[in-house]
Amino acid sequence: MKKRQFVPPTPQMLAKIRKAELDVVGHNQRNIMCPYCRRRAIIVFDDASGHIQTRCKHCGKEVIIDLVNMRRTRRF
Ligand SMILES: [Zn+2]
Repeated sequence: MKKRQFVPPTPQMLAKIRKAELDVVGHNQRNIMCPYCRRRAIIVFDDASGHIQTRCKHCGKEVIIDLVNMRRTRRF
């Protein structure tokens, strides 16, 4: 697979990134484990809700996670 070129974020995007980092200060975070390899797939903060789709960086499987019920809703 061809490695993607690093593109520096625009100042506006950088400001959003910095703001997001400040926003989560003081929030509880929890680790969501990959259901396939049982390693940490992502970290979510307590203001997160809804569904997310992520690819586990350890085993490469994609999984959709329902953040409210903390369960897998679909397998790939
Ligand atoms: Zn995994």
